[in-house]
Amino acid sequence: MTCIFCKIIDGSIPSKKIFENHELIAFHDAHPVDKVHFLITPKKHIENLIACSEIDKDIISNMLLLAPKLAKELGLKGFRTMINSGVEGGQEVFHMHFHVYGGGSKLVKI
Ligand code: AMP
Ligand code: ZN
Repeated sequence: MTCIFCKIIDGSIPSKKIFENHELIAFHDAHPVDKVHFLITPKKHIENLIACSEIDKDIISNMLLLAPKLAKELGLKGFRTMINSGVEGGQEVFHMHFHVYGGGSKLVKI
């Protein structure tokens, strides 16, 4: 098994874990782009949104619903989400994850 996030999920690679349940895990990004930057990822290995199907809709909605809860716990009043999908979408780790970040003063509008 070569997937780095699967290794984080099974504990063989350490992470700064924020949340874990039967379905999802969240941990701080190793290279934060903002004051707070964490990732939410499913325990099930799904490559990205492109590889998702109807059977993954509960996972996707639970990932999104978890974002504001964890952001609030980490002191954020607002945050941004980013989901990179595929090489052309800038994805580097091919285990689906949602970036959640905020708290800094610099906000580049897109
Ligand atoms: P993406 O470009 O959307 O695939 O983003 C992958 C993210 O995973 C990057 O922001 C990396 O900094 C982050 N990352 C890679 N390896 C680790 C790790 N071992 N622990 C925490 N974050 C990681
Ligand atoms: Zn994986």
